[in-house]
Amino acid sequence: MKVFEKIAEIQQEVGTLLNENKTIGFVPTMGALHEGHISLITNSKQDNDITISSIFVNPIQFNNPNDLRNYPRTLQEDLKKLEAAGCDIVFAPSVEEMYPKKVDETYNFGSLESVMEGKFRPGHFNGVAVVVKRLFEITTPTRAYFGQKDFQQLAIIKALVKQTNSKIEIVECPTIRESDGLAMSSRNTLLSEERRKSACLISQVLFQINEVKNSKTIDEIKTFVNEKINSDEYLEVEYFEIVDSQTLQPINSWEDSKTITACIAVHNGNVRLIDNISL
Ligand code: AMP
Repeated sequence: MKVFEKIAEIQQEVGTLLNENKTIGFVPTMGALHEGHISLITNSKQDNDITISSIFVNPIQFNNPNDLRNYPRTLQEDLKKLEAAGCDIVFAPSVEEMYPKKVDETYNFGSLESVMEGKFRPGHFNGVAVVVKRLFEITTPTRAYFGQKDFQQLAIIKALVKQTNSKIEIVECPTIRESDGLAMSSRNTLLSEERRKSACLISQVLFQINEVKNSKTIDEIKTFVNEKINSDEYLEVEYFEIVDSQTLQPINSWEDSKTITACIAVHNGNVRLIDNISL
């Protein structure tokens, strides 16, 4: 496995691969890797000649300085995991390498970014779009792999690809969960033992929606989810929305959309967890 920190060096490597007509699968990450990330690598390896992953904690997508400061950084272990998974190339740049100048690009994703994560994390998706666009330019992938865990991010990336007339195929990969249902996340490592136990309530309540939805309205489901999760001493719902899976706009009745996703963000002390389920 080759590891690059400099843009010019990885671009030279990628140039050679393109001359050899290799297909490239790309898996962007912020490190602190878990099996969710590794599943994206596995998918990419199945589809492409070469798999490139990036590890970069992107400061401009953090709207909360404490979240950025506390974000887990485990580069050496990450490299071992990527090597074991069969990743071919890793790009792990510094902040200065990615952003030598002040970033002034702005994207407009309209109503896709005015709800949920976009509403509660101002500037987050612009930061995501800036870094993903740059990483796409550097790695020139045939396909890029993203997890459904970050459901709204996937919609934004698809919109970015459309807006920039990119030919990169975006491949959606299912959410990988711990044995108690908690969606794997780098931030889970920041939870105390007690808070980690409470965290599994989030997915358990989401799974219950599918069992009770035939007998309840959207408003009743919202009350059910908010009450159940907020009744835990450690958890506090930031938002819970039931949305059309394409437009991401909240729906008021089950008849409003054929493809529906329930999305949630929960504060567990200083750790903010998100999850979603297709209904
Ligand atoms: P992150 O390092 O959190 O920015 O995530 C990098 C990529 O891994 C994104 O495409 C995420 O959606 C994906 N990812 C994170 N957690 C999971 C998970 N539990 N299952 C599947 N994909 C995930």
